[in-house]
Amino acid sequence: MPEGDAIFKDARRLRPVLEGQVVEGITCRWPRVVQGLEGAVIERLTTHGKNLVLHFSVGVILRVHRQMSGSWRADAGRIPGRDLRLSIRTSQGVADLYDAPTIERIDARALDAHPVLSALGPDVLAEGFDPEEAVSRAPPEMPVGLALLDQRVAAGLGNIYRAETLFYERQDPFMPLREVREPGRLWARGHSLMLRNIAHDRIVIETREGHPINWVYDRARQPCLRCRTRIQAGRLGGMGRDGVEQLVRTLWWCPRCQT
Ligand SMILES: [Zn+2]
Repeated sequence: MPEGDAIFKDARRLRPVLEGQVVEGITCRWPRVVQGLEGAVIERLTTHGKNLVLHFSVGVILRVHRQMSGSWRADAGRIPGRDLRLSIRTSQGVADLYDAPTIERIDARALDAHPVLSALGPDVLAEGFDPEEAVSRAPPEMPVGLALLDQRVAAGLGNIYRAETLFYERQDPFMPLREVREPGRLWARGHSLMLRNIAHDRIVIETREGHPINWVYDRARQPCLRCRTRIQAGRLGGMGRDGVEQLVRTLWWCPRCQT
């Protein structure tokens, strides 16, 4: 699944085409979602964790969540074999969204009460992000490996950053948050890892001799690059509290470094 930095980069790429522009044409796989938006101005594009949000001048908001499959293309022309779900044309170009399962129309007046957006924790990539605020939102009994993915605690971190953050902090993923000595360090680390990647096309955790490496993510049974112990992979249970994402995802860790 794309993580918050990917959505941040989507917004950066789409803004020149969409922001402040009059909608000259708009189509959607579900036509009612975009009814009445032709001729409106797209006032702002914002990101909230993994959600990209388009604010239209007519009091309508579109929330897009790419989940595992979706992707935005700007001025790419129609891509054969892919399912075009949303297409927006302005005088500055065309933005196409393929395969994304979530395109939701929201009345701007109801935004503050929106069940997903209003429940999100602070955005990890937002200016002034406060790791301690994230800690204060997490249930103390929750294993840290789960809390890092919980979008109500802090929005934006996904599976790669979770695994690598826990490795950098030498943290046992299964430890309940209340037993962690300085839990704020975890979100501070996730924040800095993600921030660094805004400049890259793909996620780069670290480089060695010019090659990108992950310490633990997707390295099951390979030797730890620090201590040579085999990296373990397992599932960490629990349902996503945002009701959209399930947090039961594979986790990788070094059983020796992360105790
Ligand atoms: Zn190790």
